[in-house]
Amino acid sequence: MPNIGIDRRSVLAGSGALALAPSIARAQAASGVHSFKLGTADVTVISDGTMAMPLAWVLPDRTHDAVAGVFKEAGKTLGAFELQVNVALVRIGGELILIDAGAGSDFAPQRGKLADNLAKAGVQPDAITKVVFTHAHPDHLWGVIDPLDGGTIFSKARHVMTAIERDYWLKPGVESSVPEAVRGAAVGTQRRLKELGARIETVKAGDEIVPGLSLIDTAGHSPGHVSVLVNAGGSRLLIGGDALIEPVISFARPDWRWGPDWDQDMAVAARKRTLDMLVADKIALLGYHLPWPGLGRVERAAAGATGYRFIAG
Ligand SMILES: [Zn+2]
Repeated sequence: MPNIGIDRRSVLAGSGALALAPSIARAQAASGVHSFKLGTADVTVISDGTMAMPLAWVLPDRTHDAVAGVFKEAGKTLGAFELQVNVALVRIGGELILIDAGAGSDFAPQRGKLADNLAKAGVQPDAITKVVFTHAHPDHLWGVIDPLDGGTIFSKARHVMTAIERDYWLKPGVESSVPEAVRGAAVGTQRRLKELGARIETVKAGDEIVPGLSLIDTAGHSPGHVSVLVNAGGSRLLIGGDALIEPVISFARPDWRWGPDWDQDMAVAARKRTLDMLVADKIALLGYHLPWPGLGRVERAAAGATGYRFIAG
């Protein structure tokens, strides 16, 4: 497959598809590559860049003061909501599995860095044996497509997505069932899924993709959203996709409505279920949008505070 180099990328950066929200270009995490051992598996977090989200879009029911109050309770100061885009690469049982594929270079200029950072990590796209999608939102799916030649960048990989997720976005007229602000994104997602066509193998929550890597139902943020549980010889990590997005609010107030969620009640239930599981079973978390490199654990909030808290590291 053609290599997607910096020159081609910068040419494409101006082509500008619809972004979900105004974006602020910021310096991303210095290296963009973070590797660690998880029992018998090797995990590498690859940065696809960053994304900014206005408060009014993600927390439409809450005032700035109310959000700032929760940040204060957590010992933090509310600034701009700048989120990372942390793509996970798991080497397990002879397979090299990418979890989500970033936004691609035609979504927003400060994203779409996955291909360059994979090269920095010494990983050829052809070496990847599976791409597992937590869901089909642009920042998770669009990066799979070669922007110049079409088709997938990962030519030797099986592409795996829940049937519920794929079928939802392939529905004729799906754009009329989503908020106006994301209609362009829905059309773009459908186009890319059609482009992948039969390359996508459909699965369902609960399925084991390979021994030690299985899908957990976290539907709500999107219709067929799943998280990926890695159990590598007893060491466990949940690659949470967008089940838990923001490092303060998603944990301290899991029941607050999050604007971009597809089904609010399902998303709240999924957050609570996931938080309960992470605490009860002492499972580490890798969050797609949590502070670089997205790793940490969850604890119940201290006495006097509500909900949970995310402890990075
Ligand atoms: Zn996302």
